[in-house]
Amino acid sequence: MSKAKEKNTLIIVESPTKARTISGFLGNGFEIQSSYGHVRDLPKSKLGVDLENNFEPVYVIQPKAKENLEKLQKLAKKAGSIILATDEDREGEAIAFHLAQALELKKIERIAFHEITKVAIEEALKTPRGINMNLVDAQQARRVLDRLVGYELSPFLWKKIKYGLSAGRVQSAALRLLVEREKEVLAFNPEKYFTISATFFSLDKKRKIQAELFKINSENIQEPGIESEAEVKKILKNLLDSSAQVFEIARKELKKSPLAPFTTSTMQQESYSRLRYSAKQTMMLAQQLYEKGFITYMRTDSVNLSKDSVSSAREFIQQSFGKEYLPEKPNFYKTKSKMAQEAHEAVRPTNAFLVPEEFKIKNEDAKQAKLYELIWRRFVSCQMEKAVVSQESVVVEASFKKDNYYFKANGQKILFDGYLKASSSTTKELILPSLEKSEGLVINDPKLEEHFTQPPPRFNDASLVKMLESLGIGRPSTYASIISTLTARDYVSRTESKSLQSTNLGVLVTDLLTHHFNNIVDYQFTAKIEDEFDEIADKGADWRKMIKNFYEPFHQNLLKKETEVTRAEATERPSNEVCDKCGSPMVVKYGRYGEFLGCSKYPECSNIKKIPKPSQDTGILCPGCGEKDGGKVVMRRTKARKRIFYGCSRWPQCNFASWKRPDDGE
Ligand SMILES: [Zn+2]
Ligand SMILES: [Zn+2]
Repeated sequence: MSKAKEKNTLIIVESPTKARTISGFLGNGFEIQSSYGHVRDLPKSKLGVDLENNFEPVYVIQPKAKENLEKLQKLAKKAGSIILATDEDREGEAIAFHLAQALELKKIERIAFHEITKVAIEEALKTPRGINMNLVDAQQARRVLDRLVGYELSPFLWKKIKYGLSAGRVQSAALRLLVEREKEVLAFNPEKYFTISATFFSLDKKRKIQAELFKINSENIQEPGIESEAEVKKILKNLLDSSAQVFEIARKELKKSPLAPFTTSTMQQESYSRLRYSAKQTMMLAQQLYEKGFITYMRTDSVNLSKDSVSSAREFIQQSFGKEYLPEKPNFYKTKSKMAQEAHEAVRPTNAFLVPEEFKIKNEDAKQAKLYELIWRRFVSCQMEKAVVSQESVVVEASFKKDNYYFKANGQKILFDGYLKASSSTTKELILPSLEKSEGLVINDPKLEEHFTQPPPRFNDASLVKMLESLGIGRPSTYASIISTLTARDYVSRTESKSLQSTNLGVLVTDLLTHHFNNIVDYQFTAKIEDEFDEIADKGADWRKMIKNFYEPFHQNLLKKETEVTRAEATERPSNEVCDKCGSPMVVKYGRYGEFLGCSKYPECSNIKKIPKPSQDTGILCPGCGEKDGGKVVMRRTKARKRIFYGCSRWPQCNFASWKRPDDGE
């Protein structure tokens, strides 16, 4: 080796895929290596926070990182300069910080970028900086605070409920949302209501229109519909003899604007809604796309777009769709988040000209391709012209004696598709027949439809992320892990339709925390803590002071609750059941195998029994077996679509089932 040879620049990133992508851009003189994630962290088996010493974290080298660190150390000694190029957010900054410490780097050069492209890397290399300690401190504060809460609160749950449970900041507040919703669902009593629709024919029978009754005389029908069955039957009878005419035709033109480009939250929502990808799966795929250089950084709450990306989108739109699809000026979107210094970009493709069809050829992973297509469409359409839609509504009047019944039909027609041409969202057209005002019509086949009011829907990945964001709980880097932690710990299960449903265990833990550690499950308090992390990152607020303010009252309260809360209080709740051995009330208890009913006189009476399946008794005798065996009709829901039906309490001995309540008559 000749002494004259120039030394290499060593660039360290956190993932091997990212290292490979960057290697493809940079020529000789650069060596790109991966740290494989964090190299230092709090220890696994100890608290790792020095409470005597102002919350000093005691970091240890990760065992799995040791070998790789030695290799990096050797390369660092040989290198002419060392550049840390980990991700641009707090987590990335912390990885860079720990790398610098573990490698004992004297001179630190740090670069950050929104996207892994040749231009972006070369640009970043021109302006290296030091490590931003505000970002590092915000990450340390989160790590230390979550460690303290988990380390002290989890053993409390072990003693009071069950060994191995865990509680944590943010996750427990998110769980409370699910528990409260589940309680609403269980307490919900469906009520029956009716709607009426009819088809009206023109006199020449060539045109027809389907419309729904919305108003009787001057009274609008209250949502969701008519409750009285006698009333709807009377209306139906009147309608059969009514005479009908077109009462009113209204048209209006509407401009529809494209949606803002993706943030982490909106990407997770859309990806769940359209592709049924969980938040976790979406983030995994997005990270792969980012590390391969196809999209910008996937953890962001910003809708900013770089000037270059906007002009290349505009160029693409003009070339591919034509001038009429290009707005005069670029569309601008405003970021709602108040974070100023971490001004990131929206999630967007790095190359607007890489259309989804061509992406599939370049990159074979089908799931990545589907997510890429969503991101690409959202980005390109956000820079396109508004769509123009014509909406039409026709009101038909059907008169019988002194009563007038009003029916409405709505139609819509796309006059100019605009951004819809590139967007993933579809707008359905429904063209109504051409009718004249006051034109006579013939009513045909008026129909009543029976419905039941529905409970509020359970959360799914999309609606939960949306709710968390609106409450200010969690951040782009944490939404996905909140959900996966809750499901991994059996606090939440997924229904057949993938919705999130809290378990008995989830309810128990939430009730306990709500009564005794209210801050931990309080939405506002949790949001305030997130804001305080932002203050550290953006303004350099003192992170140790912030932890102290949280920890001291939390710890005092915990000591108090250790003695105050009994195991029985934590694991028992009242029930309506009476003990068949001694007549005392029974309580719902939580044991090793889940919930069961136990006598409240335990240990004098040790009677236990299974919790009866939740069903709603209608008080009606079963038409199948009621006379003979006393079966009762109970309301149940179908497994798949949760539709309400009526079955027998003696199922499976009796197979009676009906969509209608048996006392409905006819
Ligand atoms: Zn008893
Ligand atoms: Zn029966």
